[in-house]
Amino acid sequence: MAARSLHSPSEQQAADGLERALLAWLQPLQQGLQLEADRGFTNLQGRRDTFADFLRHQLEQVPLPLEPREQEQLQALRAGYGRYDQLGLGQRQRLVRQSREWLLALRRRARPPAPVNPPRLKLVDAPAAPSSRAAQTLELSTPLGDVKGIGPRTAARLAQLGLLVVRDLLHHYPRDYLDYANLKRIQALEPGETATIVATVRRSHGFVSPRNPNLGILKLQLQDPTGRLRVSWFFAGRRFASPGWLAAQQRQFPAGATLAVSGLVKQTPYGPAFQDPLMEVLEHAHAPVQSRAIGRLLPVYGLTEGLSADRIRQTVDAILPVLQAQDEPLPLALRQQQGLIERHLALLQIHQPQDQAQLQAARSRLVFDEFLLLQLGLAQRRHQLRQHQAPVLEPSSGGALVEQFLQLLPFALTGAQQRVLQQIRSDLARAEPMARLLQGDVGSGKTVVALAALLAAIGAGCQGALMAPTEVLAQQHFHKVADWLSQLHVSTALLTGSTPARRRRQILEDLVNGQLQLLVGTHALLEDPVAFARLGLVVVDEQHRFGVNQRNRLLAKGLQPHLLTMTATPIPRTLALSLHGDLDVSQIDELPPGRQPIATRVLRGSERDQAYDLIRSEVAKGQRAYVVLPLVEESEKLDLRSAVEVHRHLSEDVFADLAVGLLHGRLSSEAKQQAIAAFAAGETQVLVSTTVVEVGVDVPAATVMVIEHAERFGLAQLHQLRGRVGRGADQSHCLLLNDSNNPLARQRLDLLARSCDGFEIAEMDLRLRGPGQVLGTRQSGLPDLALASLSSDGAVLEQARTVAQAISASDPELRQHPQLAALLREQRQRLAATAAQLN
Ligand code: ADP
Ligand code: MG
Repeated sequence: MAARSLHSPSEQQAADGLERALLAWLQPLQQGLQLEADRGFTNLQGRRDTFADFLRHQLEQVPLPLEPREQEQLQALRAGYGRYDQLGLGQRQRLVRQSREWLLALRRRARPPAPVNPPRLKLVDAPAAPSSRAAQTLELSTPLGDVKGIGPRTAARLAQLGLLVVRDLLHHYPRDYLDYANLKRIQALEPGETATIVATVRRSHGFVSPRNPNLGILKLQLQDPTGRLRVSWFFAGRRFASPGWLAAQQRQFPAGATLAVSGLVKQTPYGPAFQDPLMEVLEHAHAPVQSRAIGRLLPVYGLTEGLSADRIRQTVDAILPVLQAQDEPLPLALRQQQGLIERHLALLQIHQPQDQAQLQAARSRLVFDEFLLLQLGLAQRRHQLRQHQAPVLEPSSGGALVEQFLQLLPFALTGAQQRVLQQIRSDLARAEPMARLLQGDVGSGKTVVALAALLAAIGAGCQGALMAPTEVLAQQHFHKVADWLSQLHVSTALLTGSTPARRRRQILEDLVNGQLQLLVGTHALLEDPVAFARLGLVVVDEQHRFGVNQRNRLLAKGLQPHLLTMTATPIPRTLALSLHGDLDVSQIDELPPGRQPIATRVLRGSERDQAYDLIRSEVAKGQRAYVVLPLVEESEKLDLRSAVEVHRHLSEDVFADLAVGLLHGRLSSEAKQQAIAAFAAGETQVLVSTTVVEVGVDVPAATVMVIEHAERFGLAQLHQLRGRVGRGADQSHCLLLNDSNNPLARQRLDLLARSCDGFEIAEMDLRLRGPGQVLGTRQSGLPDLALASLSSDGAVLEQARTVAQAISASDPELRQHPQLAALLREQRQRLAATAAQLN
């Protein structure tokens, strides 16, 4: 904790400078006075002046601003030296003495008082040493109702918070802390902060409020070496307003008593003050404080009805002895290397830190553990995945088909695409199943790479599957792919929720007998009794929409193909490591040549006409425009303009001369398909849509994206939407309409207008809205982190990941780390229980 001196650094510097000047001036004066006294007050003749002239002259040049009284005294002294010649010995003697005293006083005043250190306070150790009472049978799994010191009513209230057994309460960390460990002198108190002082009672006065007969008031005046301070308590209630009771209060804090006082510093007309603080009378200034709150960091827990803050603290006190029996899960060497305190100590100190240093040490350890368990879990999953045998796909056998495909493309792959394709193909040539995440901004050309990879598998005699999160996307993939694949004589089919039963049966049959080489579909692929003859590679597009669970469902079906997942939602690294730490990551970090950044502007709703003008002029050039809205249901819309309504308005009023299409989630899949096809073909020039277009819809002729109520979307989502334009060679535009007066909303949108870097945008989104919002779904498989923050603890995450990988490499089953294994099991059970609750 920073001991703040009474002077700020700059004040201190100025004071130091002044003091030096004063000393330089004083020294010859004091020497002269001394010499004159030594020589018997003879008005010594110096090299230039007599003693008296020298004094008179020097006293004109005091290097300090003088107070009026000092000024007067100075005049008197100078007058004395003016007639020194005429003074008798006694008068000379007195004048010299007065001069020395005057100078000494000046010197004392100019020297700033040495900064007073904050008071010290001795704290009694937390009684975590097991009093035989509590340690007896306490285990992590002990029901809270069975813990001594926690009654059935309290246990019931805790149960409402989901806190059932000791372990739950142990991991119910404080939401915040009141910093009473901030020890201060009175003069240094700052309004608005919590602090603790040690001070003496000067006056103590208990009385009934003159305005309210039911309000008792106790006022104290306290003092420490730096100043005075008022403290007041208000006691509401007839009982407290009795003179006897108030007198007793007053006697509790008699004048002269030493107090330790903790509270929030308030600004009052009389200067800083405490109101209703915590106080304890100390036997003497260095006696230990008995209170468990004064002078410490006081934990603040999320409250529940019927449980006071103190009550929760007491229940936590009652279970902390359980920590005595906990073994340390990390090897000593590792702990030392990472500079971590023991886990049981960390758990104690997170609940009862004595100061910031203890709190930080506790937090560091627990954050590390959270990340370590997360990464160990991922490392285990990866290890298990690698145990299985995947089909070995020799690059040589698939190569010809891939080459043919690349020849068909009207463009050459970018360097990044080539590099990633190479990585994938070398993965496919191994017996371990590939588990790779392909990240690339919208329009970076992931689909082409995925298709080349699928063809490598197919060329090697396997089957491939391409899965997309929505029917629209699956259809779009299928149409794009079907064209190329028929030229390559590769058989392909589309399977979605709306595939007719007859067709479905045929497809399933062809898959089993190996006739069908590539299956494109939605995640219906996972639900269905789909069986492949020889599945080699599964590509999952827009993986973040799928979630980890669905990804695993494939494996659960006994399929052990290579797996390539793709996402255009750039995920901040911390999030990627947490969610996909079991995957290898490839990145396409280069856009195909000739793309121009999308000109993005933020408009008020009242400037909507500008957006419509832009649409009109672009359409006149043969381009197309999206108008995107957040929601379609009337019930949810409140004041939002629904897609249906906007479509009517645009098609009938604004663009009556144009063809305006409509796309939303409530349409049948044919209707959706038709809407997209019509827009792609230019039969409609404007497409009003909900966020259905967010993912993957690819119409290169679209150059305008107007987004209504942009403030309702996350940044990453807006970036996705924006990625629907700018896919061709022409300049594209994105207009963000926003009527929010929230400056934060405005700031977020401005970032989007400024940046086209998906990663920068995603980082910002993470910081502004948190990981749950960035991923946008409950099923996203977000890690279970109580303390660790994915936006600010990135460095710890990296460390923990390195450690987890090292542990996992040498001891994948955690046989040598039984405590870690136990913690991991425990965490899995907790997650499984939570997941069960959600479903
Ligand atoms: P993503 O899936 O990463 O958003 P796509 O694979 O859909 O991107 O590609 C976007 C557009 O760019 C498509 O029209 C695609 O044909 C085209 N494209 C892909 N790779 C290249 C390339 N190397 N050069 C030029 N155009 C490309
Ligand atoms: Mg795509």
